[in-house]
Amino acid sequence: MIFNGIDFDTYLKNYPDANGYFGSYGGAYINDDLKKAMAEITEAYFTICKSRKFIDELRRIRKEFQGRPTPISHLERLSNSIGNVQLYVKREDLNHTGAHKLNHCMGEALLAKYMGKKKLIAETGAGQHGVAIATAAAYFGLECDVYMGSVDIKKQAPNVARMKILGANVVEVTHGLATLKEAVDAAFEAYAKDYKNSIYCIGSVVGPHPFPMMVRDFQSVVGIEAREQFVEMTGELPDAIVACVGGGSNSAGFFSGFLNDPVDIYGIEPLGRGTKMGDHAASLKYGTDGVMHGFNSIMLKDENGDPAPVYSVASGLDYPSSGPEHAFLHKLGRVKYDVIGDDDTIDAFFTLSRLEGIIPAIESSHAVAYGMKLAKEMGKGSVLINLSGRGDKDMDYIIENYGIR
Ligand SMILES: *Cc1c(COP(=O)(O)O)cnc(C)c1O
Repeated sequence: MIFNGIDFDTYLKNYPDANGYFGSYGGAYINDDLKKAMAEITEAYFTICKSRKFIDELRRIRKEFQGRPTPISHLERLSNSIGNVQLYVKREDLNHTGAHKLNHCMGEALLAKYMGKKKLIAETGAGQHGVAIATAAAYFGLECDVYMGSVDIKKQAPNVARMKILGANVVEVTHGLATLKEAVDAAFEAYAKDYKNSIYCIGSVVGPHPFPMMVRDFQSVVGIEAREQFVEMTGELPDAIVACVGGGSNSAGFFSGFLNDPVDIYGIEPLGRGTKMGDHAASLKYGTDGVMHGFNSIMLKDENGDPAPVYSVASGLDYPSSGPEHAFLHKLGRVKYDVIGDDDTIDAFFTLSRLEGIIPAIESSHAVAYGMKLAKEMGKGSVLINLSGRGDKDMDYIIENYGIR
């Protein structure tokens, strides 16, 4: 399918280009030491990850350890409560550890093993990526240093405990605001010093090339499975698909299976409390072109041009930018990016739980809320939503702030 001059038959092979660009977005804006390290990872990725042996081993891990393929569920009661449109969810909440993140963490860790690395280095904000990478490290018997701001360490005690139980070393970052941004800087710094022995494992389709490409490719299992399963279930393609977008990994993998199809694709960003700067994290909708964390994309900046403070009820979505591929697909118009606020998200969280017996992550509830809105507008047809994770991690927060509805 050709869309606005781009041939989507060959898109996944041709994008990004050899320098990591999706159109004008992407690249690697980093110092020379890190450039060397990234070049090593890129070369290893293209030789090792395309080999039969690597692919076979990753397939076996996906099946025997992660519990893939995850199913698609038809949301019959929710669909009937809205009208004639049939809603479906791809169940990444049933992937081991309860979200899609393990899909790329197992890929990154397997690559580390093949490259002979001894240690995984990562940063984490809410702790979800930290837990996934600690899980992968335990599985492969690798050391694991997870950098985390002291503010987040206090807030996310259960995830800190999980990482430690899994054998990871949680490194406290105390400078600046002591949250995710400082953790990213500290992790990059540690990696630059120790890249011969270790590998950096990023948490989404962000950062310098090759990460946006690698993470998308490791997450593409979600889109490949979903397309095949949906066609087998219903005999046709969905009319529309929906996923939430923080950094953009679950959506990038899910969308990749449908980019070449006549399917409407929606990426949903968090509108939080409203459109005022600081009240949301809708970077594609309200941001401008710029460079941060080593890549060129669309981002929310403050008056000094630094990453702006952002907010979302979902801690996994409060990032001031999105991966370069999303910026590209947004400018191209192939994916429509829209927003959903906190209130609609929390309504959808309770509705899906009550009508379907599935408690979604608050991140994923953004996609569910948008899918429900779309179903009302469409009147007929089908919508497939990527349910990126389960809501167990959000129980305390929900009870404390919203009670039980
Ligand atoms: C981390 C997380 C997200 C956001 O990350 P993406 O890279 O945008 O996918 C979404 N859903 C869940 C359940 C998460 O844990």
